[in-house]
Amino acid sequence: MAQLSEDCFAFGGPLMSVATALDILARQAVALPEPEDIALAEARGRFLAADLVAPFDLPPHDNAAVDGYAVCHADLNAESETVLPVGGRAAAGHPLGRPARRGEAIRIFTGAPMPEGADTVMMQEDCIAEGDRVRLRPGLRRGANRRKAGEDVRRGAVVLAAGTRLRPQDIGLAAALGFARVPVFRRLRVALLSTGDELREPGAPLPPGAIYDANRRVIAALLEGLGCAVSDLGILPDRPGAIRDALAAAAAGHDLVLSSGGMSTGEEDHVKAAIDSLGRLHFWRLAIKPGRPVALGQIGRVPFIGLPGNPVAVMVTFLVLARPLILRLAGGRPAAPHGFRVSAGFAWTKKPERREYLRARIEGDGAGGWIARKFPRDGAGILSSLVESDGLVVLPEELARVEPGDAVEFLPFSELLD
Ligand code: AMP
Ligand code: MG
Repeated sequence: MAQLSEDCFAFGGPLMSVATALDILARQAVALPEPEDIALAEARGRFLAADLVAPFDLPPHDNAAVDGYAVCHADLNAESETVLPVGGRAAAGHPLGRPARRGEAIRIFTGAPMPEGADTVMMQEDCIAEGDRVRLRPGLRRGANRRKAGEDVRRGAVVLAAGTRLRPQDIGLAAALGFARVPVFRRLRVALLSTGDELREPGAPLPPGAIYDANRRVIAALLEGLGCAVSDLGILPDRPGAIRDALAAAAAGHDLVLSSGGMSTGEEDHVKAAIDSLGRLHFWRLAIKPGRPVALGQIGRVPFIGLPGNPVAVMVTFLVLARPLILRLAGGRPAAPHGFRVSAGFAWTKKPERREYLRARIEGDGAGGWIARKFPRDGAGILSSLVESDGLVVLPEELARVEPGDAVEFLPFSELLD
């Protein structure tokens, strides 16, 4: 079971910085899901549970990098053409089957094993075939157009470290090394719920005062992107007993419980009290906008994340805080997402000592640079702002004012959506 250590999240006092929160989160994931062996064909997006070690050199044999003629370099005249008899043929999958003899050229094709004794390949475009002989130009370097065995990967090297989230190219390398199955961590089982008497399922009628549950669909999609097995536990009413019972039940059989809404301290916000009574809650007042409040805690030993209710705050806090925790719980080793410097296409005043994430589109400036265009409406409930944006401009704590043309950090959604 993925678990948090007992002493987690204890914090009181002033607003906690995002960096401190991330630091605490990074130290909390202590146990990992069990490993399982799965077919390589199923492995995309899974987290390796053990180092993958190359069982042999890659490529396994010296081979031709081009179509042409394999020769022994010592047979070539340095200053003038060389004419050699063509004594054999080697194609990919069809080795010559004998060593090359001195004084002969071997017709060879890309990927064919180099015959023993031949060390150089002349491209066919640089040769003139004349019946059963070939005319070779001078000036070819020894070893030209030959790929050496092991030049890609050495036998015994760790090619993919435990914790790697398998991308297409990682899977390609595992295949090239002959792995039909790979050890990965079992998928993280996440229980997901929404809270709110106003919420309805898309497809159901919408009575006066009701809205459709958007958060659960956003979060489920985010979790699926992270490779989690999501149990959709639906919508909870704003009733303390129902919330408490549902959260207690959700913890059973899951590695993580995640909810949205009901986290504030209003009269209808019952999640906090429920977690308090079921385990431990560390109500986080983070110096982040949008996003406060975010809660972390545990139900028994199962980690719990309580996201805000407003959809924009949900997405931002999920990406900034929940995502790295989930990646770690799942067995990964998340690196900080790569932001890049762009030019602000807007003016903005912010509260110092708070980190702000602005929704923005990215435009070319016509000179090879990029400009961030801030979405004009900032409300934490404006879902269309996320749809219209390419990512988030991150304004650090110490900053108080942005002027048009200032360099700002931009985090593309492509860095954050898995
Ligand atoms: P809360 O944190 O429960 O007070 O919710 C804050 C705001 O977010 C309210 O306007 C809610 O109606 C809205 N909200 C809460 N949960 C959802 C949800 N699942 N989908 C869409 N909006 C929500
Ligand atoms: Mg609510």
